[in-house]
Amino acid sequence: MMADPAARATRWLRSSRAWVVVGILAPLGMVAVCGMMLLDLRRDAWDKAEQTSRNLLQVIERDIDRNVEIIDLALRAVIENIALPGIETIDPELRQRILFDRAVNAKDLGVMLVLDENGDTAFDAAQWPARRLNNAERAYFRAHKAQAGLGLYISQPLISQLAGTPVVVLSRRIDKPDGSFGGVVLGSLSLSYFNRLFDQIELGRAGTINLFLHDGTRVVRYPEPNVELAPNFAFSPNVQRFLREGRGRFVGLTPSDGVERLYTFTQVGILPLILNVALSTREIEAEWRTKALVIGCIVIVLCGLTMGLSLLVGGELRRRNAVEAELARLSRTDALTALPNRRHFEEAFARAWAAADVGGGPVALLVVDADHFKRCNDCHGHAVGDRVLQALARALAASARRPSDVVARVGGEEFAILLPGTDVPGGANVARAVHEAVAGLDIAAEGAGIGPVTVSIGLAACLPSEGGSPGDLFRRADRALYEAKARGRNRTCQAGAASDPSSGPACALAGGTA
Ligand code: GH3
Ligand code: MG
Ligand code: MG
Repeated sequence: MMADPAARATRWLRSSRAWVVVGILAPLGMVAVCGMMLLDLRRDAWDKAEQTSRNLLQVIERDIDRNVEIIDLALRAVIENIALPGIETIDPELRQRILFDRAVNAKDLGVMLVLDENGDTAFDAAQWPARRLNNAERAYFRAHKAQAGLGLYISQPLISQLAGTPVVVLSRRIDKPDGSFGGVVLGSLSLSYFNRLFDQIELGRAGTINLFLHDGTRVVRYPEPNVELAPNFAFSPNVQRFLREGRGRFVGLTPSDGVERLYTFTQVGILPLILNVALSTREIEAEWRTKALVIGCIVIVLCGLTMGLSLLVGGELRRRNAVEAELARLSRTDALTALPNRRHFEEAFARAWAAADVGGGPVALLVVDADHFKRCNDCHGHAVGDRVLQALARALAASARRPSDVVARVGGEEFAILLPGTDVPGGANVARAVHEAVAGLDIAAEGAGIGPVTVSIGLAACLPSEGGSPGDLFRRADRALYEAKARGRNRTCQAGAASDPSSGPACALAGGTA
């Protein structure tokens, strides 16, 4: 029959082992759930940082691309206007206005000049006559002079001769009608433009934005500007990766300050510029770290409490179960002889009877009573009587050795020996062994010894499968015991056949025949 699950659960919870298991599993579960949650929160922090970097990059890239495009459109307009038929015949001041008519709208445009083929200023968007200077030695001028078709040329950062501030020069070549070099049109973009743009962006304390030219020159760095005007980082593995991949994301160390950062980078439109936004990984995880620390501490405390409480409850249960088990044992044990008491004997008798009833085997029972015990008590005192009872208990226990045998104290000086699977001859053998063991006892008393101790035994056996009850068997053995007493004691009497109540017991004197 299946046990009631609720009862089984209750029983399990009452076992100390259950609480040890709970004390280990519950904290493990808590740690696992908490770990998964923290990993999830960390992933969220990184997702947010990656998303922020992408958005920033997009906004900055668009702004730079748009501004460069506007300046480039102005440069192209100048080139178109220079090619207008008859333009060279117009009054130079008017010609200057026509040339730069679209340039005035270009936002963030610093200086805008037309240089002739010798690098001298021919036209100046800001005033007429043009401010005089020669830019023939500038790299952009020499590049356009050396090669046609360069398109828009973006210079390295340089100090503007007119404004005296750091700028990037955007330039295009002017071709003469015959295709030969006719000069350069240029517009300057102040580096302060980039700083203004980046200033609006919240990057955290260790976040940076960098803009590189394709040759590895760093145009601007935010928040700390370049120490040199145009440092070259073509040797840097990070920059090499930007240039190689054009667009992407990676986590790497910044060599200059040793800080680990999440680099997100992109090519600016089709321009020879690479832009990157770098956020410190420490700052990305800072908020998460605080949360992880708080949650981790709480979980550790809770785990500790759970484990402590479980161990406490488990220990308490173990102690209680041990006490209960000891009480149960004591309630079924005779205190004087440590043998099973009458209650225990009756339970064991009922179990053995039921097993034999099913198995079809015999059960033998010996009822053993000390002879003239009252006299012994009276002569030597109760304490000696107690020692005799203990010695008898040991002798009886030594005589019935099978694991299934039960030797119990069922009364004052009366014992019972239950022998499952044993018939009358077998029982008689055990009875003989008992007489021998008892005869060998030597119990000391004050003065002389107490003399020989003897017992009388009533023996009965039956097949439970043939009917009857444990009580019937006990009564038959008890009657045989009375017979043994009546016939002079120190002997075993065997009960008559159960099927024939009229048949009297057969008796044998200990150590011989009666
Ligand atoms: P019989 O041979 O007919 O059995 O005589 P008996 O004296 O043994 O029988 P009786 O029933 O007259 O006396 C039993 C005595 O056993 C009485 C009692 O004082 C003693 N007795 C019972 N329990 C204990 C015990 O725990 N310790 C001691 N010392 N004596 C006990
Ligand atoms: Mg007696
Ligand atoms: Mg008695």
